This record gives sequence, structure tokens and C-alpha cells, in this order.
Amino acid sequence: MSEPGGGGGEVIEVIVVGGGPIGLAAAINARMNGLTALVVEPRTGTIDKACGEGVMPGAVTELAALGVHPRGRTIAGVSYQDGTRTAEHRFASDAGLGVRRTELHRALAERAAELGVRVEQGKVEAVEQRSDGQQGGAVSAHLADGRMFEGRWLLGCDGLHSTVRELVGLAARPRRVRRHDSRRFGIRQHFEVAPWADLVEVHWAPNAEVYVTPVSDAEVGVAVLGRRGTSFDEALASIPALAERLRDAKPTSSARGAGPLLQNTRGQRAGRVMLVGDAAGYVDAITGEGIRLGLAEARTAIECIVANRPERYEREWRRITRDFRMLTTGLVAAAKSPLRKAIAPLAARMPRLYGRIVESLAR
Ligand SMILES: Cc1cc2nc3c(=O)[nH]c(=O)nc-3n(C[C@H](O)[C@H](O)[C@H](O)COP(=O)(O)OP(=O)(O)OC[C@H]3O[C@@H](n4cnc5c(N)ncnc54)[C@H](O)[C@@H]3O)c2cc1C
Repeated sequence: MSEPGGGGGEVIEVIVVGGGPIGLAAAINARMNGLTALVVEPRTGTIDKACGEGVMPGAVTELAALGVHPRGRTIAGVSYQDGTRTAEHRFASDAGLGVRRTELHRALAERAAELGVRVEQGKVEAVEQRSDGQQGGAVSAHLADGRMFEGRWLLGCDGLHSTVRELVGLAARPRRVRRHDSRRFGIRQHFEVAPWADLVEVHWAPNAEVYVTPVSDAEVGVAVLGRRGTSFDEALASIPALAERLRDAKPTSSARGAGPLLQNTRGQRAGRVMLVGDAAGYVDAITGEGIRLGLAEARTAIECIVANRPERYEREWRRITRDFRMLTTGLVAAAKSPLRKAIAPLAARMPRLYGRIVESLAR
């Protein structure tokens, strides 16, 4: 079966592949700019995902501008600790928010529906572009079930393992995995316990970073980042103070993982296709910024479409992600090196520098 255009004769201006937070935000942005938008997403219902769930202040502002106000727990800053030393930085102005991914999805999906975003369940398996001279061309998304949707632009918002990125030739060749696999992965789980801090706590365990994010008045999320095979329970047990706090807390979700986190790209645009969010390239979750960056990219991609200046998108993407790419790459390299042990003590000894780094990643 094929369904060109919108099925009902309507021209789809923006096809969004992936109904995660960034895909939904892109579609909301499109509608707020008067463009028709279709989201294609294989999963139904409320979507969950492995995430640290710390929404940085800049992301809270982006969400509010979209009319999206998820319920969560205020985050006043970020602390680094290693059992002996603690560095703490409180955000200079606005607060961040700890938000369950299911709640973030609910809030975004409701807003998208309110604005008339069309959502189709399906998995995109092929993308085709054609140029129409004066008309400017079109792009079509082919679904696994045989349906096809045609639109003016297509945004690949399909996450870390983006199919769109592969299909349009923007995936960088994967580097050979050495025998000693140092690629990083993440696992998260939630616990029923009243948060004991208003900060995202980053615990530097010997072999993993363990993030604690308050997500409501009665629940915290714990995310573990480390090499393949890192055990969630072992990482937790290696931080006695945290293990003690969670000892009697009931798990409220099952452990969920994601990775490898590092995803290199050759670019972010191919003709009428733009990559947005994790699909556009990702370094690591160590600085907890994916949502903030993805929301800014989604807004920018739609601005480029509205201004009919798609060629600007890649330059803007580089500008938006510059600090993230530089600082996160540096921090991951330090985390994998003998310098690892010095990270929390150095942050504690240099509070100004630590604060400046957290601020630059927060907005
Ligand atoms: C362990 C961990 C901790 C993290 N902690 C934080 C944090 O504290 N703060 C923060 O801001 N970020 C954090 N991140 C990063 C954050 O989770 C991501 O940046 C964010 O989810 C990106 O959203 P997205 O919409 O681009 O991708 P996703 O959330 O992955 O959504 C992609 C969607 O595309 C769909 N899809 C996939 N393939 C197709 C296809 N072929 N056709 C149609 N649809 C498709 C998927 O079903 C999915 O719903 C963390 C990540 C990890 C792994």
C-alpha cells in the first residue's frame, strides 16, 4: 500500500522520523511556525528510555517556549563526589528539572496533539529524495509496512542508532573495535525514596559514574555510565553512602540500558534531510545535556526551513554543540585515564572553574 502526500491530499511540510522528545519538539516547533507536521514512530503509548533525566535549565526554557511544562522536581545544580571530596555548583539563575522520561513524553505528546501534529505508527526503512526544479523537490519516507509518506523536508530524530543517518550516508564509518573495548554504555533504574538533595549528584566510582537525579518528591533515578558489561548493582555497591541510602528503597522501574554512546557523523544535512538530536551525533551522557542540545537543534532546524536556508543548519549545529563536544570529549578522555581519580578532588579545589564548566553546559 502506498500513501503519497498526507493521504488526504494535504502536503506534509515536515516529516519527523522518531517520536522521542526531540522529534516531538521538532513537530511542535513546525506547527508553531504554521507548517504541517507528521511524526513516524514505531512505539505506541508512553515512551520510556534509558536516561539520567536531568533536564538542564536551558532545556526547561526551551520546553516552556513550546508550551510544554512537564511535572518534575526542581534541580538547583550539580555536585561531583568521590566519597571523600565533594564539589557543588548551584545554577546561577534558572533551575533545571528532574523529569521521568514517561512524564516528558506525555507532556510533549499532549502539546503536539493540541497543535494538530499527525502521528503514524511505523518504522522508516527507506528515504528517497527527488528534485523538482522550480518546485524545490520532495522527500519520501518508506515504512516497513509498505506505506509511504511524501513531504517537503524530513527530520531524522531517530536517536543514537539512527536509521535515517545510515540511509542518507551521514553515518561515519564505525571505528574498529579494539580487543580492549572502551566504548561506553548507560543503564538506569528508579527507586522509591524521598530525594535527599536538590542537586544532580555525580558519584565518581572506581569504574563508573553514578548519577542520582530527583524526579519527584518520592522518587529518584539512578543512571550508571561505564564500559560494556558494567554492572549496575556492582557500581552502586562501590559507593557505600549511596548504597546505604537506597538499601531499603523499592525499585520503581526495571533496569534499562542504552549505548554505545559515542556516535560520529559525517554531517547533519543531506539535501532535504536534516539530523536532529542524538541522531545528529553524540559524545556521551557524562554531562547530561542531550535534551537541551536536541531541543535547540530542533528549533534551529525549523527556523532554517522557515527561512528557506537549509544550508545554515550544519553551521548552527556546530555552534550549538561546540562546548558539549569539546568538554564532554575531554571529560570522557580524563574519565578513562589515570586522571580519573583527580576529577572530583580537582573540581572541589577549583570551584570557580567547576562552576564555569557546569554553567556553560547548563544553558
Ligand atoms: C544513560 C543515559 C543518561 C542520560 N542522561 C541524560 C540527562 O540526564 N540529561 C539529558 O539531557 N540527556 C541525557 N541523556 C541523553 C538523552 O537521553 C538523549 O539525548 C535524548 O533521549 C535524545 O532524544 P532523541 O529524541 O534525539 O532520541 P530518542 O529519545 O532515542 O528517540 C528516538 C526515537 O526514534 C524512534 N525510532 C528509531 N528508529 C526509528 C525508525 N527507523 N523510524 C521511526 N522511528 C524510529 C525510537 O523508537 C525513539 O522513540 C542520557 C542518555 C543516556 C543513554
